[in-house]
Amino acid sequence: SLESLFTQLEQLEEKKVDQFNVSYQASDQEIINGLQYGQFVPFFQPHINATNNQICGAEALVRWQHPKIGVLSPDAFLKKLTKLGLINKLTLTILDLAIATCVSWHQQGTQYRISVNVSPLDLTDLNFADRVFEILNHYQLPAKYLTLEITETEICNHLGKALETMSRLRIKGVEISIDDFGTGSSSMLQLITSPFRELKVDQFFVRNMFVDPKSYTAVKASLYLAKHLNLRSVAEGVETEEQAKELKHLGCNILQGYNYSPALPAEKFLQWCQHFQSK
Ligand code: C2E
Ligand code: MG
Ligand code: MG
Ligand code: MG
Repeated sequence: SLESLFTQLEQLEEKKVDQFNVSYQASDQEIINGLQYGQFVPFFQPHINATNNQICGAEALVRWQHPKIGVLSPDAFLKKLTKLGLINKLTLTILDLAIATCVSWHQQGTQYRISVNVSPLDLTDLNFADRVFEILNHYQLPAKYLTLEITETEICNHLGKALETMSRLRIKGVEISIDDFGTGSSSMLQLITSPFRELKVDQFFVRNMFVDPKSYTAVKASLYLAKHLNLRSVAEGVETEEQAKELKHLGCNILQGYNYSPALPAEKFLQWCQHFQSK
């Protein structure tokens, strides 16, 4: 029932966490089977438009619904899954499910955007852009609703091919976001030469913006850079109303974090949105 849903959500919100089990050491075979049997699914964390306080989309974050252990966070399996050569398969699985879910939101009258994390290894595969277009076509989602998030730490090793894939995606309207901005190792040159549409301020700076004046400066400078490079700005890890207020004041476009909600299972997302908008 709605009532029990909100009780659960309140408990989640009280805990202010969406880090599920991260210490479980899964075996290779468990990961292989889990992918085959559809145990890897996206949860959805709302994106709030800082100007009008309306929900404007969500980030899909992978969770492993392990039959014996329960829900596992990416920190528990992403590295190993990547070593097993399965990251491309995971990305396409999450893309497919996230886009299908986004289309179902549109069918219920919203225009939410969907952001999906991709690995730099995906971008080095020159077939990747076509796979993305196939999924968009299959569900009939216009490309402009899809953002792909890429972590800057990871791009620099594979710059040539990654640039080509990003350009192909961008030409057809898919938007590219630079994730964890400021804690990776990309250069300013890379920032201005890559076809990014969005910049995500790393949560490290957001978390420390009132703790450490240098973090505040990093947030401010990142938002300044985004604005003047014509990039949409997103602050992740927004945990308090004070942070939200200051980020709005500094011109941040989109807010994401436990101050609003942790990542939610698909079936709870729209109910959360209705609840939020009625406040
Ligand atoms: P990310 O893309 O930077 O995602 C943000 C992380 O911060 C998520 O952790 C999210 O749950 C967490 N978070 C959100 N709001 C708050 C907050 O207010 N406070 C704090 N302390 N944390 C917050 P999560 O889900 O564990 O994901 C960790 C990383 O794993 C992601 O970082 C992303 O790099 C990667 N990842 C997640 N899903 C996927 C996926 O489907 N594919 C790939 N390739 N990577 C993924
Ligand atoms: Mg991300
Ligand atoms: Mg991030
Ligand atoms: Mg991260």
